[in-house]
Amino acid sequence: MKFKIKTFGCQMNVYDSKKIRDIFFELGFKKTSVDKDADIYAINTCHIRNKAKQKLYSELGKIYKIKKKRFDTHKNTIIIVAGCVAQAEGEEIFKRAPYVDIVVGSQSYQKLAYLIKKLQNKNKFLELDFEPKSKFDGIPKKNYVNEISSYLTIQEGCNKFCKFCVVPYTRGPEYSRTVEEIITEAELLVKNGTKEIILLGQNVNAYHGLDCKNKEYNLGKLIFSLEKIRDLKRIRYMTAHPKDMHEDLFKAHRDVKKLMPFLHLPIQSGSNKILKSMNRNYTIKDYLKIIEKIKKYRKDIVFSSDFIVGYPGETKKDFQKTLDIIDEVKYVQSFSFIYSPRPGTTAYNLKDDTSNEEKKERLSILQEKLRFYQESFNKNFIKKSLNVLFSNSINKEKRQSLGYSQYMQLVRINNKTNLNGKVQNIKIKKSFYKSLEATSIN
Ligand code: SF4
Repeated sequence: MKFKIKTFGCQMNVYDSKKIRDIFFELGFKKTSVDKDADIYAINTCHIRNKAKQKLYSELGKIYKIKKKRFDTHKNTIIIVAGCVAQAEGEEIFKRAPYVDIVVGSQSYQKLAYLIKKLQNKNKFLELDFEPKSKFDGIPKKNYVNEISSYLTIQEGCNKFCKFCVVPYTRGPEYSRTVEEIITEAELLVKNGTKEIILLGQNVNAYHGLDCKNKEYNLGKLIFSLEKIRDLKRIRYMTAHPKDMHEDLFKAHRDVKKLMPFLHLPIQSGSNKILKSMNRNYTIKDYLKIIEKIKKYRKDIVFSSDFIVGYPGETKKDFQKTLDIIDEVKYVQSFSFIYSPRPGTTAYNLKDDTSNEEKKERLSILQEKLRFYQESFNKNFIKKSLNVLFSNSINKEKRQSLGYSQYMQLVRINNKTNLNGKVQNIKIKKSFYKSLEATSIN
C-alpha cells in the first residue's frame, strides 16, 4: 500500500506534511511519487491567497479521475484534504468534491491514523478541532527520514489579527510547545543526521513556552538552549514579527555562533498609513530601529522580507515609500505578492480603488528593485569564500552538491565526493540572481 502527499504553502505546511508522512509510515504505507499508485492521496493546503484554494480544487479534479480509474480495477483510493483550506472550508469541501474521504484541519491531522483505520465505504470524516497540544502529543516521535536541514515547529497560531491574514482563523490562537518537547525533538533530529534546524512559527518570536519548572522561555532563551546540542551546526528561525523582537533574541544573534546571520523580518509596506490600516502595530521608524540595533549586535546580518502590493488604499505615494524602504534596508531575498482579499478577514470589505493593471505594474517595479539588491549581494561574493552547509546532491555521474550559505544563498558545486552534511568554506566562482556557483574542492 502506498501514499502520496502534495503540499501547498508555507514551511509550517512542509513540517506538517512530514508528520503526516510519518503517520502513513507508521501505518505501514510506502511513499510513491506516481499518482495512480497511491492508495492514499493527501493534499496539505494553503489558504493565504485565493490562487492556493483554486489549486486545491483543480488538484482534486485530477485525483478524482485517477480514483475512478483505480476503482474500475477494484482499487480504492482514500483522498484526504488537510491544512488551512480544510480548516476554513470544512464541510464545503465535501459539497464541492463529494469523493473526498477525510477533511482534517491544521490542528487535527494527528487523528489521521485512527480515521484511516475507521474509514469504511461511504463514511466520511471531518475533523476541525483546534487542539495544538494534543496534535503535538499525538504526532509520531520517530524520525522516518533523515534530513540535513530540518524544520521544527515550536509555535503555532497568531493573536495579531493583521487585517489581511487568515492565519488567526485557520491556525487558531498562539500556542507554544514546551521547552522539553522542542529540545527532545531537536536532539532526535540531530541524532539522525540533521545539521541545521529551522525553528518555525507563524509568529516564531512570540514563542513563550514553559520548561519543566514552569519557567517561561522566549525564543532568544530557547536558542541559547538549543545551541548546546553538540552536533547541531546551524540554527535559523522564521517567521518573525517586528513587534516581537526582544533583547534575548538580539543577544542570541550576538552570542550564538550557530544562529545564522540572516533574518526574515516581514515589513509588508513602507507606508505608516498602510501599516496602520493592516493592523501591523509598528511604524517604519520602529522597524528601522530594529534593523539598526540588530546590526550592532551582529555586524554581518542580512535581511529578507515579505511585501504586499496594492493593499486597499495604497496610493502611488505609499508605494514609493515601500520602494524607499527597500533602498534603505537592501534586502537580499524577499517574497512579494499582489494583495489577495480573503473572505472572513477584516480587509476583505475594504474599498479598493486601484486597478489590477496598476497593481501588476507596481509589483513588477518592486520585484525589479528586489532583484537588483539580491543580484548585487550575490555578485559581491565572486572570488570570496562563503560558509556552506551541503544538504543535497544531484546528477550522480558528474556529482553536483547543493547547499546554503550562512546568508541563505543557494550554492552549487561540481564535486566528485559526496559533501552532504558537511559545512565548508567554499570559494565562489560565479553569481546569479538566485544562486551561486563555487569552485570545485577536489
Ligand atoms: S502576524 Fe499577521 S500576517 Fe503574521 S500570521 Fe499573524 S495575522 Fe497573519
